[in-house]
Amino acid sequence: MIKKRVLVTGGAGFLGSHLCERLILNNCDVLCVDNFYSGYKANIAHLLNNNNFEFIRHDVTFPLYVEVDEIYNLACPASPFFYQSDPVQTTKTSVHGAINLLGLAKRTKAKIFQASTSEVYGDPSVNPQTEGYWGNVNPIGVRSCYDEGKRCAETLFFDYWRQHKVAIKVARIFNTYGPRMHPNDGRVVSNFIVQALNGDPITLYGDGSQTRSFCYVDDLIEAMIRIMDTDSEVTGPINIGNPVEFTIKQLAELIIAQTKSSSTIICRNLPKDDPKQRQPDITFARDTLGWEPTVQLYEGLTKTIAYFKTILR
Ligand code: NAD
Ligand code: UDP
Repeated sequence: MIKKRVLVTGGAGFLGSHLCERLILNNCDVLCVDNFYSGYKANIAHLLNNNNFEFIRHDVTFPLYVEVDEIYNLACPASPFFYQSDPVQTTKTSVHGAINLLGLAKRTKAKIFQASTSEVYGDPSVNPQTEGYWGNVNPIGVRSCYDEGKRCAETLFFDYWRQHKVAIKVARIFNTYGPRMHPNDGRVVSNFIVQALNGDPITLYGDGSQTRSFCYVDDLIEAMIRIMDTDSEVTGPINIGNPVEFTIKQLAELIIAQTKSSSTIICRNLPKDDPKQRQPDITFARDTLGWEPTVQLYEGLTKTIAYFKTILR
């Protein structure tokens, strides 16, 4: 049987490395591309000897000439710390990256998946967010390089679909966590677990009343695979996330309890433009993919804490 040739950009990152693993299990011929901006060799080290896996160090802001059947475009730093460290490169990665990969999809007639984000909704004035909501995004703030970059990428995906008939699959991913998040990338789940395990103060930004909905990585990867396998008329955008909403203070308390930590909670300033609420309406995903999350926060945190214990030893 001829294997499907699948390109994963950002494949050495948190989500990308899990996706590569899953595609290898599905007997695909996986080509992983990454420039290690916020990803790590360690995330894919265990895959390098696999016959179904190949790696190219490459920056997606430059054209890429390969022959593939499917493309998952995940290249882009996802943590505010990383994407704000070099904001011009962040926008270039989303926009030039999308142009290059859509061009590749057009030439090779490959299906192409875009890892878009709940950040396209900005600081939403409706809760939960449906795909029909256009968002409330500051175009000139510190988060704009990421939010507007991803919004422009969505525009490009839909114009390549309308104009060039490229088969697109756009998913809006909500906060996802799990093993292989980087301990220092500043995202809330990894920050709190590392702080709790080290007995350091838990850094709550603002009063912790802002909300997020946390999806475990395995659930997300399952959704990505199902989206790619949908019929050609399914383009998205499609919300993917766990609709159970928590305040960030509740998350801090849960992590302290689950790690049996002696850490105390300290308050820090809320970062500029930090969204106050976020919860996906996943009706469309349920109806179209027959998908919904199966791992709830307690169980997902247990697995993630176990992972961080192994790397912090
Ligand atoms: P990550 O930072 O761990 O992974 C991103 C990967 O992209 C890294 O390996 C990085 O080195 C690579 N990369 C960055 N710029 C690149 C470039 N110019 N060329 C090639 N590679 C480049 O983040 P993640 O959490 O794995 O997120 C993966 C994708 O999913 C991102 O596009 C992100 O926007 C999207 N997403 C993630 C979440 C989440 O909660 N994890 C939520 C919404 C959207
Ligand atoms: N946050 C926090 N303490 C931290 C890191 C993050 O209180 O040490 C908050 C942050 O202000 C935001 C939420 O947790 O309200 C989620 O932050 P993250 O960076 O993980 O994701 P995003 O804001 O992009 O959803």
